[in-house]
Amino acid sequence: MEKAEITIIGAGAVGLSVASRVARKGRNVLVIERHASFGQETSSRNSEVIHASIYYPQDSLKGRFCLEGNALMYELCEKHNIPHRRTGKLIVAVNEEEEEKLPQLLETARNNGAGGVRIVSAGEARHYEPNVSARAAILCPTSGIVDSHNLMKYYERTALSNGAGIAYNAGVKAIEKTGGGYVVRVTDADNRDFQFQTRILINCAGLESGTVSAMLGIDIDTAGYRINYCKGMYFRVSGSISRFPQMLIYPVPPEPGSVGIHTTPDLEGGMRLGPYDVWVDTIDYSVDETLRELFFKSTASFLPFLTMEQINPDTAGIHPKVQKQGEPMRDFIIRHEAERGLENFINLVGIESPGLTSSPAIGRYVAGLVGELF
Ligand SMILES: Cc1cc2nc3c(=O)[nH]c(=O)nc-3n(C[C@H](O)[C@H](O)[C@H](O)COP(=O)(O)OP(=O)(O)OC[C@H]3O[C@@H](n4cnc5c(N)ncnc54)[C@H](O)[C@@H]3O)c2cc1C
Repeated sequence: MEKAEITIIGAGAVGLSVASRVARKGRNVLVIERHASFGQETSSRNSEVIHASIYYPQDSLKGRFCLEGNALMYELCEKHNIPHRRTGKLIVAVNEEEEEKLPQLLETARNNGAGGVRIVSAGEARHYEPNVSARAAILCPTSGIVDSHNLMKYYERTALSNGAGIAYNAGVKAIEKTGGGYVVRVTDADNRDFQFQTRILINCAGLESGTVSAMLGIDIDTAGYRINYCKGMYFRVSGSISRFPQMLIYPVPPEPGSVGIHTTPDLEGGMRLGPYDVWVDTIDYSVDETLRELFFKSTASFLPFLTMEQINPDTAGIHPKVQKQGEPMRDFIIRHEAERGLENFINLVGIESPGLTSSPAIGRYVAGLVGELF
């Protein structure tokens, strides 16, 4: 039987970042991906925001990897010419009630480690973004945007040049624990089955990370690993791009656990609004046109130039959440599952936002876990 030393399931931003860090001369590293190329799922269906860690506590993995990832991301992008922009972000208060919430929000952001955050007046906000309405705002200078395709291309190129192999069109169907590690059964695009043995297995399967955990015999309901789908939808704004804000413009969070519909500029000068999140049972990326009014009403208070005719349904992505609807936010799950009798199985489950920002830091962390297994 064919053998790999380290196998990574999933070629999204996280799996490829891990591959780029664990691959090295003399190590037999294999990435298995069911699609014909990388990043066909959540890693290319998101806001592409480099988050600053405003909302995630520092003692959580989300907070830690978001902060580390933010710094590493700018470093990577600058060094390897990955298109990105340090746009900065404004969280805008449009009425007195929202303005009163800013000091508390600022304290949370500072406690969570977001660098350089401060409250700015209406005048200063206007200086940064003349076409945005605000009574006051929180300025967050370390937020930005990144070209996720080119980021993944960089991870893929680095993994390959460090000696990793990538098998595309290869869907993992079953996994069996054996004396020497794990036997992985895979089906290719022509429905042919093959299997190989691996000593170390790393689950970076995103929306299927719960399913892959279940393949190893983990009771995903007891473990809290079942993935629940929450669909984030976007509308694109048409019209003269000269009026679009260059910064990310967020409202004051309308409710706990939600950051609200916000603007996301892209590197070409265009702009999307979203995501608007809805819990769903199945994966379907369509965007409901009847949400136009809701998108308009949620953003018109801070984007006075906007008209309803200017916004049209765009893309959607699915958040792989381990929390269920109505439950409080859960943290990333990243662990070596030795305590479950699954030595050398490193499991990443529920890597939702800020997973893209965190990807360089997660790659470094998982490479550290792998290093302990040698
Ligand atoms: C609407 C939305 C907006 C977001 N905005 C941001 C943002 O602005 N900033 C940010 O930091 N994060 C954001 N995120 C989160 C971020 O996109 C994800 O955390 C990140 O992309 C997860 O990467 P991943 O590699 O874990 O998963 P994925 O990109 O889903 O990759 C998993 C891969 O595993 C493969 N796979 C699954 N099962 C199998 C199998 N059985 N066999 C073989 N291959 C398999 C899949 O095909 C897929 O390619 C957002 C997410 C959503 C949904």
